[in-house]
Order: sequence, then C-alpha cells, then structure tokens
Amino acid sequence: MEILKQRINEEGRVLDNRVLKVDSFLNHQIDPALFQAIGKEIAKRFEGKQIDRIVTIEASGIALALMAAIEMNVPLVFARKKKSILMTDEVYHSVVYSYTKEENYDVTVSKRFLPAGEHVLIIDDFLASGEAAMGLAKLVESAGDTVEGIAIVIEKSFQPGRERLERAGYHVESLIRIERFEDNRCIFVED
Ligand code: 5GP
Repeated sequence: MEILKQRINEEGRVLDNRVLKVDSFLNHQIDPALFQAIGKEIAKRFEGKQIDRIVTIEASGIALALMAAIEMNVPLVFARKKKSILMTDEVYHSVVYSYTKEENYDVTVSKRFLPAGEHVLIIDDFLASGEAAMGLAKLVESAGDTVEGIAIVIEKSFQPGRERLERAGYHVESLIRIERFEDNRCIFVED
C-alpha cells in the first residue's frame, strides 16, 4: 500500500532497529483519510470471503478495524486488555505476551458479543511475534467461531509472527511488510 509506505518513510521513527513508532498518524494522532484508505484496502483483500464480524484489540486496533467494518458492513467487537468492572457478563479470554510492554496480559470479550458459528476477521495494527493475533484467534475459536483471516496493517517480516500464524493454518494479509530495519530506517519487502 503505497501511501502507507510513504507515510512510514516520512514520519515513522525506528527505535534501536527494533520498533517502529508511527504515533503521528496511527498510534496516537490518527489520520482519518489514511484510515479510510486502510479500511477500503482490508475490505478489498477479503472481498468474496464470508465475514460476519470483525474482532480487534484495544486501543490502536479499534479505529482501524472500524474503518474496515464500515466498508464491509459487519459488526465490530474489540477485546479488552483489562476487565472492566462494568463487565459483569461471562467472558471468553486468552493470555497474550506484550512485545512492547514486556509483560503478560489477559484479553477478554463478553460472550454476548461473540456468538458461535460466525466467520471472523481479526485486525491489528502491527504483527511482530504473533502473540496478540494468536491470542485473539484462540479466543475467537473458543467461542465456536471460524477465523476467516487476519489483517495486519504493518508486518515486521523479520519477526516470527507471520510464520507462526500460517503454520497454525491462518490466512494473513498485511498491508505493509517490513523486511528489516537498517540504520533505523525501514527496508520494505518488495511486492
Ligand atoms: P506481537 O503480539 O505480534 O508480538 O506484537 C503485536 C502488538 O505489539 C501490536 O498489537 C502492537 O501494539 C505492538 N507492536 C509490536 N511491534 C511494534 C512496533 O514496532 N511498533 C509499534 N508501534 N507497536 C508494535
């Protein structure tokens, strides 16, 4: 996705050749026009597939997934990283190790918002080790649903996430794939 590549080159900051900071348009400040284009691209990649619902994870996934949900005209539910005291329903949960925070956390979705028998598209902002996406996929399957695919906005292809998800049988679509970081710059996988 060329416009996304351009924005990463212009505004992204690579820290210690390890993490990419894109808080000026994706993780903190949000560029609505770019998000709209991302939503359209995700919808295009899954055109013709049965998608009944989108599942993402708070916080950064929500706005991205919303744009895709509007395009695909399906409901969206986000997994919570902390159980809310208002969440008195029964929940599905999964344990995820956070790459950026270096700690385990529990992700939960109320059983009411994940009916069994649906085909679900999982969306997240980054793919690194695959922990978050794998946790969401397991959570979705524990509800009796099928994971139809996993859409990622920025994949760090030098980390094992994609391989791990594909080995587990999931279809992964990433809008941008970073082959490596070099001198704190992104080298992209050629399309
Ligand atoms: P994984 O679970 O695949 O190891 O990592 C994915 C999660 O970690 C994403 O939801 C994202 O929040 C965070 N993450 C991983 N790598 C990066 C990165 O390079 N930059 C940013 N901003 N977030 C990242």
